[in-house]
Amino acid sequence: SNVIASYNELSKLDLRVLRVIEVLHRNHEYVPVKRIVNYMGLSEEVIDKSISKMNKLKLLVRRGPDNVRLTFPAYDILSIHTMVKKGVIDAIAPTPLGVGKESDVYAADAPNGEKYALKFHRIGRVSFRNTRKYRVWIGERRHVTWLYEAKISAHMEYLALTEAYKAKVPAPRPRAVTRHLVAMEYVNGVELFRVKLSNPEDVLEQIISAIEDLLRINIIHGDLNEYNILVNPSDEKITIIDWPQWMYANVKGSRVILMRDLNIILRHFKSNYGLNVGIDAVMSRLAPL
Ligand code: ADP
Ligand code: MN
Repeated sequence: SNVIASYNELSKLDLRVLRVIEVLHRNHEYVPVKRIVNYMGLSEEVIDKSISKMNKLKLLVRRGPDNVRLTFPAYDILSIHTMVKKGVIDAIAPTPLGVGKESDVYAADAPNGEKYALKFHRIGRVSFRNTRKYRVWIGERRHVTWLYEAKISAHMEYLALTEAYKAKVPAPRPRAVTRHLVAMEYVNGVELFRVKLSNPEDVLEQIISAIEDLLRINIIHGDLNEYNILVNPSDEKITIIDWPQWMYANVKGSRVILMRDLNIILRHFKSNYGLNVGIDAVMSRLAPL
């Protein structure tokens, strides 16, 4: 992808400039180049050169000759860089695993030989196009609307993955979160809607029992469907993905969401495998929880 290609072109200095601009964004919608120069204590010439380069790579946008701001790909790069520095990852596959409406997911290799899925959250991308909505005030601080929403989404997902994984619910093991990026275990699986199961009864039981285990820790997934369940082709073990919209089970309105999740799953097994499991039977099984 573009972002990864750009990342590989950046020097340590370029990355530091990006990071400094991010910090200065706390006080400036457009950051004066002079402030960057002062902050970094380097010559104006050196900073200008780096800024021009990153402007060409579309990581920075200028306003007039003396002010700059970061673009979305710049935040992607900052997030990747943080994970590289923390030793979470060291290489990213240039082709995405999946480009959803709400995320871009890439495979990445870790220094420890593991493989991770990197999920860049994109919630708010649409509203970001409206420049008047570019920034909102939250308390005393200004935030990039898009980044703020995407960050919340990423951190919500990380929290749910952590809780689910701890409770032995089949979910990808979370590894790290920074800004709008979640790193989690790469799951070798195929989305439920794309597989022809040889043992659908068993897979449905795995799903219902996962819902049950989640209720025990007071969590409802909230976006359960045949796209967000991965099935391992060799043993048909499931992994539930895509968690940012989870909610607590003991809040008002959660029952409706739980039943929606269940209905979507039951409908899939009914129309694809002729399994007739009623929602009432499942709900009474879940009732004690
Ligand atoms: P979205 O909100 O965009 O639907 P998902 O979390 O469902 O985000 O991820 C989009 C796609 O990326 C999935 O359908 C799946 O193909 C792939 N994917 C997501 N997480 C993983 C993972 N942990 N391991 C392997 N592939 C994944
Ligand atoms: Mn999804």
